[in-house]
Amino acid sequence: MNRKRQLDIEKIADSVRAECKVTDYGIQNIFEAAEKLGYRVIRYPLGNDAPLGFAIIKNADRIIFSNSSSILSREIFSVAHEIGHHKLHLSEQGLTLIKDYDFNNRDEYEVEANYFAACLLMPVEKVNSFIRLELNEKSINKWTGLDIARIQTVFNVSYDMALIRLKSLGILNDAVMEKLKLEKMEKTTSRLLKVINGNIDLCKATEVKRVPAEYLEWVIFNYNEKLIPIKSLEAALNYVDLKVEDLDLSQEEREEDESFDDLLRVMD
Ligand SMILES: [Zn+2]
Repeated sequence: MNRKRQLDIEKIADSVRAECKVTDYGIQNIFEAAEKLGYRVIRYPLGNDAPLGFAIIKNADRIIFSNSSSILSREIFSVAHEIGHHKLHLSEQGLTLIKDYDFNNRDEYEVEANYFAACLLMPVEKVNSFIRLELNEKSINKWTGLDIARIQTVFNVSYDMALIRLKSLGILNDAVMEKLKLEKMEKTTSRLLKVINGNIDLCKATEVKRVPAEYLEWVIFNYNEKLIPIKSLEAALNYVDLKVEDLDLSQEEREEDESFDDLLRVMD
């Protein structure tokens, strides 16, 4: 990626933060932010061997799927990365689906989406002002894992992502980075976070199941209008641990299929 492209991506990430009215150092809730941007956000625990995230354009919807079996800080990164694919790579006329199994792929699109996520979650100005104003310009040679844990909590990122971003911004050098990596191995991130009363949830998987309310309303509407069979309704509800009996609906047989099913199939 050349410098011009880097700067373009940085500008797009800045405009996304502005659109979501982010004024804090980090983004408090990336899932809500993505919805604010107009994406349909679906979170589901697919397990650890499954994809981490997808970016999809389906009909008129732009969808972000994230696997909530990942620890929260990684899931947050996935959503930021998928927003990147939507902003940079997907289009109604061209590519409409990108599946991510890991974020170590060196393809051009993957490098760009990772760069976008880093700019979105940890913009250079915000990182610099945090170091100046909150860490009181502490010399990096004196940094410990606790400083990284503070950065993690404020920016809602993983310990590793914080280190990688600080290194790429030229704030950490190799020697300090190695020292901080070792410290993490010795103490584990959640213990570091506990010491500073930071966000320990960042180290756990949420296993959240969440589908936009409009989808379920739409499926129920279609069922009530006899446009979809009960099995499609069941499949959609099963996705969020609901049963047809949980809803007060009539139970007639329906024939036709519809597109929520297709969407679920894309997830499989
Ligand atoms: Zn990707």
